[in-house]
Amino acid sequence: KNAQLNNLRFEMAQIQRDQRSRPDDLPQAIKAVLDDNALEMRYQPKVDLRSQRIKSVEALVRWPVDHAQVLATNLLIDVAEQYGLIEQLTMQVFNKVLQEVASWEKKGLHVVVWINLSARLLALPQLPKMLERCLNVWNMPASAIGLEVTESAFIHDIEHTTALLFELKRLGFRLSIDDFGTGYSSLAYLRRFPIDELKIDKLFVQGMSNSQQDKQIVQSIIDLAHNFSLSVVAEGVEHEETLNTLRQMGCDDIQGYYFAHPMRGEQLLGWCEEFHHR
Ligand code: C2E
Ligand code: CA
Ligand code: CA
Ligand code: CA
Repeated sequence: KNAQLNNLRFEMAQIQRDQRSRPDDLPQAIKAVLDDNALEMRYQPKVDLRSQRIKSVEALVRWPVDHAQVLATNLLIDVAEQYGLIEQLTMQVFNKVLQEVASWEKKGLHVVVWINLSARLLALPQLPKMLERCLNVWNMPASAIGLEVTESAFIHDIEHTTALLFELKRLGFRLSIDDFGTGYSSLAYLRRFPIDELKIDKLFVQGMSNSQQDKQIVQSIIDLAHNFSLSVVAEGVEHEETLNTLRQMGCDDIQGYYFAHPMRGEQLLGWCEEFHHR
């Protein structure tokens, strides 16, 4: 009888949990986590193939691990965008990253941190001011930060987006086009926007092992980047074979589980030291 009761209790709790994670409750749950300043960050190195050194890392946001609910990052970002929470989320990410960068610097680790910027935010005229204020709080230069922006950010208001990107560039941020090739690519903006880097989406990178077409797409993006004097990075590299192919193709930087999964800030210094001494 007791066991049955326990089972029942367990099932009830399960149902309650499922109900709590219904989409309408998600915005509330996200808001609560944001107000608690409880989001977590992970960092994934970008390996410079030529020098075999870690010059930068990408910051990836994570739902708190000890939270009852589990929420995938993609969903977190989607819902935050839909419910007007993306500004608060981005400010939290910025502050956490800058605090971490400042602590790494004290320990002698100098890396640029790339932060993902939601496409919607590029419509926000106050964005440069907001980011600038964060930098001032932590007394950090904008050159310590890169911004990864997806192509979809460019299709709305080209005039406005161009002005905003130039403003961010003027402040000293590096700029990268994320998921390059998956959106509404237009070669025009390679000329038009003050960008530093193209990032090849893992869709193409992982497709290379069994698709000649994906291989050609990757090679085209690498050549395109270099023709425009941009750096090019491949994400989602999981196998040595892919790494070797990308090296032959002339890719500059590599990111992926092959080298490292996204890790906590405390782990990064040790990981980099080990990587540089291997
Ligand atoms: P993304 O910017 O395209 O990031 C790459 C995703 O691939 C990340 O997923 C990363 O953890 C994962 N990844 C890295 N290496 C490998 C690999 O070798 N194999 C595979 N299969 N996956 C790999 P994650 O962390 O779940 O993030 C998903 C997306 O959420 C990101 O895609 C980005 O668009 C967005 N995102 C993450 N953090 C933030 C943030 O702080 N702000 C905003 N606005 N968006 C963010
Ligand atoms: Ca990214
Ligand atoms: Ca993406
Ligand atoms: Ca991607």
